[in-house]
Amino acid sequence: MQTAWVDGKIVPWHQATVHISTHALSYATCAIEGIRVYNGHAFLLEEHMKRLIESAHTLSIKIPYTIAELIQATNNLIKKARLKNGYLRPLAWLGDETLELNAKTLSSHTAIIALPVDETFGLRHHARGLRVMISSFSRPAPYTSPSLVKTAATYPLSIMARHEAERNGYNDCLLLDYRGYLAEGTGANIFLVIDGKLHTPIPDSFLNGLTRQTVIKLARKNNIDVVERAIQPDELKIAEEIFLTGTAYEIMPVREIKDFGIYSKDAVTNKLQKAFTALTQNFYL
Ligand code: PMP
Repeated sequence: MQTAWVDGKIVPWHQATVHISTHALSYATCAIEGIRVYNGHAFLLEEHMKRLIESAHTLSIKIPYTIAELIQATNNLIKKARLKNGYLRPLAWLGDETLELNAKTLSSHTAIIALPVDETFGLRHHARGLRVMISSFSRPAPYTSPSLVKTAATYPLSIMARHEAERNGYNDCLLLDYRGYLAEGTGANIFLVIDGKLHTPIPDSFLNGLTRQTVIKLARKNNIDVVERAIQPDELKIAEEIFLTGTAYEIMPVREIKDFGIYSKDAVTNKLQKAFTALTQNFYL
């Protein structure tokens, strides 16, 4: 059942609304999260709520709840929604008192949307892998946009890149950063397997995803070396395997990158997928 918690209480779905003059609607003053629920448990819940507070802080949105209270609210919501496999979308945004840019006097609001998803959510392409292309859009410099946190401001670019992929017959896009290095996907981070080691860009112009951080820990635990460094797009040509990581995608193999290559090996990707699935079912690292 789809359900929402808004400013402290669970409300009927059709009452979970905002006014059209809400600051967030005009100016994207909204921090967001995405959390998976596996078997009734929200995965990495504390980490996601910490990130929500940090993202909100960047936009001067004050969340009047502690992490413990947000965790409690989430767990109550999961129970109320009877979610087994689901997706949660926490939001923190600025209210509707004024449309002036200076947002210091505006009210802050917090909500969590709970949606059921079937077990194949995001995983439709796991077996075959994604066909992707490099987008004509790139991730901006961190001093021009709140790129290191998770706010609504990131997503018009991601959406335009997704549409660009679809227009060209691909599943998704990869984005370079403002310097021309490889950055990430539209809603996921990227890893290359080169000589059996994982190589991944330094998250200095994009979100350091929680799945990315988890995969790095899992790789090291499985004796797979991880190198974080600036990666040139041309290095995509020498990679043995490539995969994307994110809350929705989990660990998603990339099969083809337009003009760069076709990737048919998957030994390292498979090993990490198995370790990740075990973790989502067991919840410890
Ligand atoms: N980058 C972007 C732009 C994203 O939207 C996401 C999804 N939240 C990620 C990376 C991956 O982050 P996470 O693993 O925390 O879901």
